[in-house]
Amino acid sequence: MGKVNMEELLNCALCPNICRCECPVLQVTGREAVAPAGKARLAAMLQKEQLDWDEEVLDAVSHCLSCRGCTIHCPFAELSLCDELINARLAAKAGGARLPQVEPYLANLKNYGSPYGQKNETAVCGEKGAEILYYAGCTSMANNPASIEAARSLFSKAGLSYQMIDEDCCGYPAEIWGDEELARRLAEENLRKMKESGASTMVTGCPECWLTFTGHYPEWGLELPLEIIDAPAYFLGLLKEGRLKPGRADMKKVSYHDPCIWARAAQKTAEPREIINKIPGLELHEASSSGEKTRCCGGGAMFQLSYPDTAAAIARRRLAELAEDAAIVTACPFCREGLLQENRQVLELVELLDRTC
Ligand code: SF4
Ligand code: SF4
Repeated sequence: MGKVNMEELLNCALCPNICRCECPVLQVTGREAVAPAGKARLAAMLQKEQLDWDEEVLDAVSHCLSCRGCTIHCPFAELSLCDELINARLAAKAGGARLPQVEPYLANLKNYGSPYGQKNETAVCGEKGAEILYYAGCTSMANNPASIEAARSLFSKAGLSYQMIDEDCCGYPAEIWGDEELARRLAEENLRKMKESGASTMVTGCPECWLTFTGHYPEWGLELPLEIIDAPAYFLGLLKEGRLKPGRADMKKVSYHDPCIWARAAQKTAEPREIINKIPGLELHEASSSGEKTRCCGGGAMFQLSYPDTAAAIARRRLAELAEDAAIVTACPFCREGLLQENRQVLELVELLDRTC
């Protein structure tokens, strides 16, 4: 658990929600209890033991996508409201509160190492001992094996050997659902497998996994045995080295949706655009809110599992900002899934790149 910054939490609790126009959960639910300052008030009162845990309170502080949209207008640079709300959720277990809808997913994590249940046994592939390890993340594993095939195909086209291990969930879902012990157990299991792999570099296409490995593992006192690189930066490097040579795409125009974590937590907005711009003849449409001012698709913090209706409403709001006459491209398995509505064509960046190389 991170350290609670009570001073900043109180600043937020007393703020008139300067960021209300950017908080997707407030925008689609209209519930003041889930407005940023409303959640901060609850979190502060829980920390000060002025409020007891119950399901309703846990539900309110769980209405955060960790999208960091509130940071766009927030005057308090030291405040990380989404992390303070994770701290609050981690305290909920000790307070005896549970979110019933996430219990089956927590059970899956405990039993199978994935929130989606039993893992696909064919996921372990590639060359044992290869220097590059590809970590797909459980959402791609369960719901979009095509993106994994695309990444594998790109490694092969670049003439690189890679391996995939029997990866467990990075631990992020367990953390945001309040089970710190389980999150750490999954993290330690992953670290053991990473060490055993002998790889020196791990490429991941999932921003939530990337942030957990690079941000949360060190906070938990866990040392990574290899270098972590995000897939957009890695594959852009292969394009620049001339190992991958894109030809014309089978589409004319794409609208790029910046995933919140890449854009606001990792400041990685240039690499995906550079990749798209290297594909001959492909026009890139910029959404009205893009780059670091992107808007969440509703998939942050596992909302598609915990609050599917709210997640879908947030996705529809975002879809209205993406060009209707273009295929949507994104660089996150959660975003892809959330935006797959209204008969829109949605591709992960690796899928687009593989189609052209
Ligand atoms: S996140 Fe920042 S802008 Fe939003 S309510 Fe809190 S203090 Fe105000
Ligand atoms: S991180 Fe996103 S969902 Fe959470 S309070 Fe801020 S804007 Fe709202």
